[in-house]
Amino acid sequence: MFYHLTVTDDCNLCCSYCRAKMFDEEDEPAGSPGTIDETLTENFSASLDDLYRFLSRDADAVLTFIGGEPLMCPQFVQTVMDNAPVKRFMLQTNGTKLSALPAAYRNRFETILLSIDGDKALTDEHRGEGIYDTVTGVAKLLKSTGFSGELIARMTVAEDTDIYASVTHLADCGCFDAVHWQMDADFTGDHSHRRFAEWSLSYNEGIRRLAAEWLRRVKATGTVPKWYPFLSTTEDLLLGKSSRLRCGSGYANYSIMTNGKVAPCPIMVGMADYYAGDIRTADPLRLPEIPIGEPCTSCDIYGFCGGRCLYSNIVRPWGDAYREVCGTVRNLHDALCGIIPELRVMLDAGTLSMESFSHTRYNGCEIIP
Ligand code: SF4
Ligand code: SF4
Repeated sequence: MFYHLTVTDDCNLCCSYCRAKMFDEEDEPAGSPGTIDETLTENFSASLDDLYRFLSRDADAVLTFIGGEPLMCPQFVQTVMDNAPVKRFMLQTNGTKLSALPAAYRNRFETILLSIDGDKALTDEHRGEGIYDTVTGVAKLLKSTGFSGELIARMTVAEDTDIYASVTHLADCGCFDAVHWQMDADFTGDHSHRRFAEWSLSYNEGIRRLAAEWLRRVKATGTVPKWYPFLSTTEDLLLGKSSRLRCGSGYANYSIMTNGKVAPCPIMVGMADYYAGDIRTADPLRLPEIPIGEPCTSCDIYGFCGGRCLYSNIVRPWGDAYREVCGTVRNLHDALCGIIPELRVMLDAGTLSMESFSHTRYNGCEIIP
């Protein structure tokens, strides 16, 4: 099982699609987050003994540090890495404090997801002046000081993103092993301030170009670039497999909140009605599943999409405008279906193997943007 550990809600940045939105007026959601847990603390405050006891009952536990910015509490992260009965650690970070973590700890992460949005202008516009240089600098430092895990550029995509230019920039800049992107869409009640539907036309066109470019690279090299929204989706299309919610939230991936409660996903902070348990008492191997509901379960591409996002499915921050996001999922599906025949020809000819698609699922990449 995969677990996110919320180290702290604190962060040293104020990115445009995250903390900066706290000051905006919000549209009414169509759904409800339900009862809000008032006992959450800013920093992890549950007993570490309870955390270790909980994790020790799962022999395959993978622990991902997340925040806020988890490295606001570097000593806590090191303490958990020294003592938790877990073999595999991952980290989701904005990268600004990563160089201060000793290399002996940095190099133990199997995967690090570094937040960056594309080129310098775009990243600095959304995340703050100088952040692009800091993040690419720390990516180079990691590689030059013994980090041999997977380094994923984790992009947030909004209306000023040229998806083709941004993904190819990060794939080719020499800093990262993989690229993942997630749209800033249907996460907060901001639809009335956005021009998403208009922008999604150019985004969809960019996705079709990217799929063609991904195929071109596969043909040229015989290897599969790790562009996460294409990777497990295409692997499943080739294998004829359908998928549940691709981030794994609520059945393969759970989040341990700062007060020790277990939520289905790190964004569902404090949504007490959807908690799956508490580290003091829960059996990690018998956590209840938190399912996706309608309209996704009746959707004709549910087996491809998996429902995109459990949080959005429950809270419906964009109301009926969720359909605008579904249009991008359908476009992704159609773009990938369009390259399947050529991939099959390569597989049949032996110039490509299914092993080339292998990757770790539920590693923090949300897969469906
Ligand atoms: S495309 Fe939309 S309705 Fe269909 S499964 Fe995905 S999120 Fe749900
Ligand atoms: S995509 Fe998954 S991990 Fe991301 S907010 Fe939605 S449910 Fe949570």
